Amino acid sequence: MGLVMKNKFPLIGVMLLALPTALFADIVYQGKRVAEWPEEARPTFDNSRGLLKAVATQEKSHYAAPKGKIYSLTLLVDFTDKVAPVTVNEVEDWLNKEGFNRDGCNGSVRDYYLDVSNGQLDLTNEVYGWYRAKHPKSWYEGLQGYSGSDSLMKEVFDYFDSQVDFSRYDNDKDGTTEAINIVYAGAGEVWGQGLWPHSGWSSERRDGVKLTHHQMTDMPGTFSIYVFVHESGHMIFGWPDLYWYGDYCTMGNRPSDKNPVAINDFYRADQGWIPFVDITSEDVNNATVLEVSKPGEFCYRYKNPERPEKEGLVWSYVQNTGRNKVLKGSGLLMQHYDFSIDGNSASDKLGLRIVHASSQGKSSDIEPNQWPDPGSTANTFFKSGTYSGFSDDAYPAIRWYSGSKTGLKITDIGTPGETLTFCIGENCSEPVSSSSSEPEQLSSSSVAPETSSSSSALEISSSSSNTARIVISNIEKAGHGKPGSRIFNVLGKPVGQRNESGDMPSNLPKGIYVEIK
Ligand SMILES: [Zn+2]
Repeated sequence: MGLVMKNKFPLIGVMLLALPTALFADIVYQGKRVAEWPEEARPTFDNSRGLLKAVATQEKSHYAAPKGKIYSLTLLVDFTDKVAPVTVNEVEDWLNKEGFNRDGCNGSVRDYYLDVSNGQLDLTNEVYGWYRAKHPKSWYEGLQGYSGSDSLMKEVFDYFDSQVDFSRYDNDKDGTTEAINIVYAGAGEVWGQGLWPHSGWSSERRDGVKLTHHQMTDMPGTFSIYVFVHESGHMIFGWPDLYWYGDYCTMGNRPSDKNPVAINDFYRADQGWIPFVDITSEDVNNATVLEVSKPGEFCYRYKNPERPEKEGLVWSYVQNTGRNKVLKGSGLLMQHYDFSIDGNSASDKLGLRIVHASSQGKSSDIEPNQWPDPGSTANTFFKSGTYSGFSDDAYPAIRWYSGSKTGLKITDIGTPGETLTFCIGENCSEPVSSSSSEPEQLSSSSVAPETSSSSSALEISSSSSNTARIVISNIEKAGHGKPGSRIFNVLGKPVGQRNESGDMPSNLPKGIYVEIK
């Protein structure tokens, strides 16, 4: 939150200070809390160096998008007045162990990122400690602003320098480390001061690499994973705090410490963890087949044609199970993004906002719906029976930020179940049953036909790191690709493969296809 930077919103600052401090974990740049990393301090990741060549980058991600195994360094520090409450081995389990469930945690930090990334990000922490700090914890906590954190950080880096090769944590070898974590004994005390958990920045340099980004997390003695995964979100990917957003992403609110909510599907698609399915106004006017999606399987995107690189509406099927168990409803969750807006610091124009299904006619949500109150509600989701469609007529105030109408129309949104169906435009026909044709034999690691319903669908498996999916929304522009790549329609039904010259199968009807390399 831009308490310091965005001083044109002084009332927001007052409001933040009045709220419970446990909600906040911050980005701190040069001693100041910021809503989003400034341009010069934004995390980057160079995927061109072959860490995971198999994953095709279909488009450049807006945020840093590391893939594959990423080594992260965790340094432990305790104090004379707050001694280490757990062992190094216990910390290693908390961060890395599959199925970690101490104190009710839903897996380790590594499990969390493996899940939300569909197995594409394996964040592995190497742990050193405990270092006994020079001063008692109370000394650092009592210093102005974040100067206690800075002081402790320098001490910790100095102490571990002889044991640690910091360059190991520059995973992409671009000269800066991706993930350095300082975990200190005891609880965070005062928001915005001392050792309050945050993601920070430094100009430290060791072993030939710059230690620009780090994060600091408390270890009160019981385990929870929210703070660590949230701060990693700032530090590794550069995601901002999603104020005014609600519980629908772990970069938004903090509804559960033990089973933190997933990363929202828009950020997941930006990372390449799930495919974007691009919908155009032509699709809205011509689409004829009901779309079918499993929870978190696709992120549908409708770009503002006037600013296609900046603004758009996105939606996906979100179900309140698993990582999203804490949410109060299920259905299509729609979001409005605008990358030209830095951070989520005002209630009227946000970099990323939820389009609440229950908010017809309002350009911005009424006060009780604003952060951090929105939490989540069942009526935020579009679904059959309550809010089964979206259009400019039904939502006259949901406009592009320029004020012009969106042109998007979604109808016939179904009942949330194993899948959710909806129609782009209107008058869609039911999906055709695939029972008449024998599905192609498919590798279980990439695509599996769904057997429990009349249609088959692509299954995004949890071990998909060695396959790449490309979503083709315009068959005429599909161009050349890898010979032999398998092509599926949006229902997951195989429709052919690229020929020896890499051309698409001929005579495919207009529609959305997924290519598996
Ligand atoms: Zn934060």
